[in-house]
Amino acid sequence: MTDRTPLVAANWKMNGTLATIRPLLAGIMEGVREDCIAEVAICPPFVYLAELSAMLANTEVRLGAQNVSQQASGAFTGEISVAMLRDFACHYVIVGHSERRHIYGESDNDIAEKFAAAVAGDLVPILCVGERLEEREDDATETVIARQLDTVIQHAGIESFRRAVIAYEPVWAIGTGRNASPEQAEEVHEFIRLRLARHDDACAGAVRILYGGSVKADNAENLFSMANVDGGLIGGASLNADDFVSICRATR
Ligand code: PEP
Repeated sequence: MTDRTPLVAANWKMNGTLATIRPLLAGIMEGVREDCIAEVAICPPFVYLAELSAMLANTEVRLGAQNVSQQASGAFTGEISVAMLRDFACHYVIVGHSERRHIYGESDNDIAEKFAAAVAGDLVPILCVGERLEEREDDATETVIARQLDTVIQHAGIESFRRAVIAYEPVWAIGTGRNASPEQAEEVHEFIRLRLARHDDACAGAVRILYGGSVKADNAENLFSMANVDGGLIGGASLNADDFVSICRATR
């Protein structure tokens, strides 16, 4: 049996100010100190990485970023490199979040390049994949997820998934209050694992696959009880310390 320590990662998106993130983080750190077997990670906006890096020093809670450039350095105004994230002790970086794909037009190829740059620079990418509502309604969920995954496998190699996390985030469930049922999530998570297993069985069995999309304190336990759901990527509910801590405690 593969040991996949559950991971619960907070994606704060573009929310908070110094005045609000300090008590939020303090509440989370206090709450996850007990009764929490999950690994916990927080992905704040870039400008708060230094603050969180200091607050999280010598704790078990890990730091992540929400995006990264595929370029190493140079004339790329507004971008942030892997080396810059390493400077602030980031462990994780989210790549391919649906808001990056669909609002900012990041392509499968851009995301594959970011994933490869993160792995090469010793960050652990949290690769987001997921279908839009119309794609699910057209029965194209597996086609979309396969395309998103295969582009990364072709570009970065299957072995790079040894140092990666995948998050299945159906776009229709993000921030909508409408989550996938545990069975719907499990079906796609299993599909993802089988897709990786075509290339490397051991890697497929070991990779953690998180579910994201309107996870709340009252639905987390059912979602996390599914065999192939190894934790969650949490947006809205990670902005409230009590809610987020309850979700972290819902992993077994
Ligand atoms: C997300 O944006 O990654 C997410 C899962 O958001 P929410 O939990 O708010 O649906």
